[in-house]
Amino acid sequence: MGKKSKRNKRSSAAASTNSTSGTNTNKDESGRSKSTNNASGNSGSVAERLSRRGLCNPFTPTTQEELDAIVTQPTVSSNEDDPIKPPKDATCWICLEGIMDDNTEPLRRNCACRGDNNYAHLKCLVSLATSKSEDIWTGRVKAASNSDWLAFGWVWESCQNCKQYFAGKLRLDIANEYARSTEGMVGGVRAYRHIVACSWVTKSMFEVHNPCYPENYVLMESKYDKLLDLVQKTYPIYNQGINPALQYINFSLKRTEAETITNYSQTVASRIRMLDSISSVKSEELTKLYNKWNDLSSRSVQRFEDLEEISKKDPIMMQQLKDSILHVKSQMTYFKREFSHLSLEGLDGTLPDEKEDRNLVSN
Ligand SMILES: [Zn+2]
Ligand SMILES: [Zn+2]
Repeated sequence: MGKKSKRNKRSSAAASTNSTSGTNTNKDESGRSKSTNNASGNSGSVAERLSRRGLCNPFTPTTQEELDAIVTQPTVSSNEDDPIKPPKDATCWICLEGIMDDNTEPLRRNCACRGDNNYAHLKCLVSLATSKSEDIWTGRVKAASNSDWLAFGWVWESCQNCKQYFAGKLRLDIANEYARSTEGMVGGVRAYRHIVACSWVTKSMFEVHNPCYPENYVLMESKYDKLLDLVQKTYPIYNQGINPALQYINFSLKRTEAETITNYSQTVASRIRMLDSISSVKSEELTKLYNKWNDLSSRSVQRFEDLEEISKKDPIMMQQLKDSILHVKSQMTYFKREFSHLSLEGLDGTLPDEKEDRNLVSN
């Protein structure tokens, strides 16, 4: 559901700043291949260009300080909720070991991998994603031929063996480890990495947890609020004018914010649908949620429109943003019709006590 297109969106956002154009392999006299499509050469030149102009390069490795600042405890791995349990002699495709003696690291799988040797320990999946993600951010390798540093999250989202998205509890466990591994970056020039990780946590929760259940909804709501708050606090880091690398991240940050608000509004919509089907729910609660949904949906359209305004020179990006706006607007029209009985809007589209309601829902 929209997942595949997300990849394309991200990669073309990335493609505009990428100077490599296809593989151009020549052979020299000794017969050795020399490729001009070299990811590390490309990133080196970016670092050089930035440093020549005295500008900060955010695409540098994670520091020890950032690692030391991680406070969240590691996820306790359990395969209880995984759809397929490994046979006794199964092994991890990453470390080639089997089930650990103390049974603390069970073998996990919830992707398209099959066979007895295509399970993995959570900690192996995490360490593989950590190092690959770092390599992509620093430009040592590319996630795909048309992607760049900002594709660093892909390796956390899908299995490196079968290339399919992780699903269920395993997806959520990896997403949480992803957020954990980047939490020391908050406030620094690599803070965007943590924001992308947190946005993957909310997307994964939306896939895995049903927001119809109150405890899930409350948890998701707090994750969205925290993330949007963090985005606001992070803008000053990247909003610094002339540095093209920071400008690039700033644009992506805005896009992440727009996508988060869109997902948030969809989560609220699911909750409304559920509550509306139970006749015992008081209408004030529903009206409050409806207003919240309405506010979030309008904000998401506005954010996408703001992005459209600043990306006028990029026709591919413009088209993607137009699609996003159209998507949100059509969902809004549909939902408003479905839940017209919850709306307090008058014919002129204004609420009688709009200010008060806005204050209630924005907190
Ligand atoms: Zn392993
Ligand atoms: Zn797999």
